[in-house]
Amino acid sequence: MLKKRLGWLQNLFSRLSGKQQQASVGDVTIISRDQHQVSRKLLSPNALKVLRRLEDHGHQAYLVGGCIRDILVGGRPKDFDVATSAKPEEVRSLFRNSRLIGRRFKLVHVQFGREVIEVATFRAHHSQDSHGDGNHSHHSDDGQILRDNVYGTIQDDASRRDFTINALYYRLSDFAVKDYAGGLQDIDNRLIRLIGNPEQRYREDPVRMLRAVRFAAKLGFTVEKSTAKPIYQLGHLLQNIPSARLFDEVLKLFLNGHAEASFQLLQDFGLLEQLLPATAAAINEQDGFYARFIHAALVNSDKRVRQGKSLTPAFLYAVFLWYSTLAYTRQIEEQDVPKLPALNRGAMTAIENQNQRTSIPKRFAIPMREIWELQYRLTRRFGKKADQTLNHPRFRAAYDFLLLREQAGEDLGGLGQWWTDYQVADEFVRRQMVKALQSGKYKKSRKPRRHHRRKPSENEQ
Ligand code: ATP
Ligand code: MG
Repeated sequence: MLKKRLGWLQNLFSRLSGKQQQASVGDVTIISRDQHQVSRKLLSPNALKVLRRLEDHGHQAYLVGGCIRDILVGGRPKDFDVATSAKPEEVRSLFRNSRLIGRRFKLVHVQFGREVIEVATFRAHHSQDSHGDGNHSHHSDDGQILRDNVYGTIQDDASRRDFTINALYYRLSDFAVKDYAGGLQDIDNRLIRLIGNPEQRYREDPVRMLRAVRFAAKLGFTVEKSTAKPIYQLGHLLQNIPSARLFDEVLKLFLNGHAEASFQLLQDFGLLEQLLPATAAAINEQDGFYARFIHAALVNSDKRVRQGKSLTPAFLYAVFLWYSTLAYTRQIEEQDVPKLPALNRGAMTAIENQNQRTSIPKRFAIPMREIWELQYRLTRRFGKKADQTLNHPRFRAAYDFLLLREQAGEDLGGLGQWWTDYQVADEFVRRQMVKALQSGKYKKSRKPRRHHRRKPSENEQ
């Protein structure tokens, strides 16, 4: 308790002396079990098993990162990460149900049914000038960490973590939480703050800019000033990140129930144009229609997460790239290519362009194209067409997509309502609905003929 007070006083002092902005790892503040709300009931029994076994074998072992942070802000952790003094090979040998993964960061995954506990060995900083010995650590010329397998103490490990709120460690031996970087104070003040020199930390790993946005959106925190400032200049560094890693980050940003807030922050920080260039360009188009469409889709996704419904990356990307697909399709149609083939080629071009930033796996690209193609097919309802469309495996997603277009203000002549009714109608009513369309069509197609009334014949005159 005394230590906690001391740590708090130190923080207060550094705040008053104006040094508060840059967090560094200094003296540890230890918060005893009765002073924090991390209770074992909130922790995964499997994670506890891992901690216990590591400790029993003489290693230090802590729960760290998102799980402790989320509990301390009153949330529920989504997964559990362990940090330990044991080397990856030692961890591997202690758990039969484990495997070594990763190259850039070596980790051990301990598998318990569907739950994976990620175990990482304490990491240390390594010299930036040296470029490392290649085997254990390696930097690129612009400071990016390419390999990071230099091990150290828990203190080293804390200083290697990204944000202060992610450097809180919980151990089983006395149920204490250890705070190395002032994370507890930042939780109290609802701040996302990088540990160390922000610009250098972003250069080491530009994905930290996206993580700052993600945590700010998820927790409703503010990105602290000196952590926020470099982002406006360094967004372009994301171009050095493999597109597969950025794809994963996009999913984390948009499938976690805080998509709308994430999108807004990405826009504010100028990062959207790095991640989703076609989307960033589109939101200024068509009197804000497209911005409203995306907004509606993201609000809807967040609602689905709250309701425990599933979300698919394909739907999300179909939303993000719809405008781009339509723009390419129109260009191709101008060369007298019929609608559907033009749409298919337009879709391919839009996806290929996006792939250069965030690679979209084929298993998502195919349903995206189906959702788009169905936008066209949903308008064609004569004969058996409506039933064929209704039975399409992607119907539901395409229908939801259609409703969002209407919600954003697109006038589709009541198409969404028609499909809403059609789905719940019985066979007889369905036939009536299709017939009514046909009679509508008949009337329409007769209209122009009125202008060409045949002249009365001689006999009639
Ligand atoms: P969540 O799992 O809720 O998305 P998390 O904070 O647990 O959030 P993970 O990606 O699971 O995020 O990472 C676990 C921990 O590893 C983080 O809390 C942080 O301490 C550290 N970490 C992860 N990525 C980085 C990074 N790019 N740079 C520095 N530290 C990182
Ligand atoms: Mg995690």
